[in-house]
Amino acid sequence: MALLEVTDLKVSFPTPDGPVQAVRGMTFQVERGRTLGIVGESGSGKSVSTQTLMGLTRGAEVSGSALLEGRELIGMPEGELRRLRGAQISMIFQDPLSSLHPLYTVGWQIIELIRIHEPATTKAQARKLAIEQLAMVGIPQPEQRVDDYPHQFSGGMRQRAMIAMALALNPKLIIADEPTTALDATVQAQILDLMARSRREFDTALIMITHDLGVIADMADEVLVMYAGKPVERAGRRDVYYRPHHPYTVGLLESVPSATGAKGRLKPVPGQPPSLLNPPGGCPFHPRCPYVMARCRVDVPPLMGDGHQSACWLPLDLEGVGPEV
Ligand code: SF4
Ligand code: MG
Repeated sequence: MALLEVTDLKVSFPTPDGPVQAVRGMTFQVERGRTLGIVGESGSGKSVSTQTLMGLTRGAEVSGSALLEGRELIGMPEGELRRLRGAQISMIFQDPLSSLHPLYTVGWQIIELIRIHEPATTKAQARKLAIEQLAMVGIPQPEQRVDDYPHQFSGGMRQRAMIAMALALNPKLIIADEPTTALDATVQAQILDLMARSRREFDTALIMITHDLGVIADMADEVLVMYAGKPVERAGRRDVYYRPHHPYTVGLLESVPSATGAKGRLKPVPGQPPSLLNPPGGCPFHPRCPYVMARCRVDVPPLMGDGHQSACWLPLDLEGVGPEV
């Protein structure tokens, strides 16, 4: 059994103008100890889908299924979800202030988290653990800084403190949503290294959400490319980077200097992502696709293929279009 098994997840938000269809059918699995990269532009549904798993999309209409070790997360009562968060699933957000409480010291928050989930731990033990966690993520003088409030930390330190919290209970699954965008390159490398270590030592599975294929080039076992609320390509890392099938993936690769090291042809994917109030019919990428055919405007391409899947009517084998190996 996969650690996490998501089937046909759909999420929409009611608005006065009609429902915004943020996620329009998403199916994926994450195995223990594996890393899944979810990639797409902002508004592609990559954040909303995982927030929904954590019960963080209030007011949304949700359908489909998400099983964590066989337990259904969709519709799970808030109290139960709260017990899962932190202990079984941790989330690392782009904005650390959304998970650090401004009125409590950083150390207190880590200590509380540990003690709520592991009541047998004494305060002194939890404090020692909290200091160790802060040291592990590279907070200088952790014995002192443990008593600081979030506002006394720099932005980068807050982010590291949040990562310390996320790793504190050795969760089974970490969901990291653009976790490194605000950090400088050295710290970024440290954090990615920490997550890789947690994965090796504790068999932690990781979902890395990013708009930048470069960030996960070294980490992801599998990559899911999202567009307009739908997965458009799903495959092992090497296939996605070196043999991309979907024109959107090709576009993303060409816009990423860090993934490819390619010179002279870096460009953003032309055009804008579509409105999710009124998504285009047929292939959602057709208004931007350089290969668009008549059929693409009418028929919705499902994810096709086994192993390496792509939602495109072109029998593309774009070998050679991706970066040079
Ligand atoms: Fe382009 Fe058609 Fe493939 Fe969509 S289905 S990505 S429009 S070629
Ligand atoms: Mg996001």
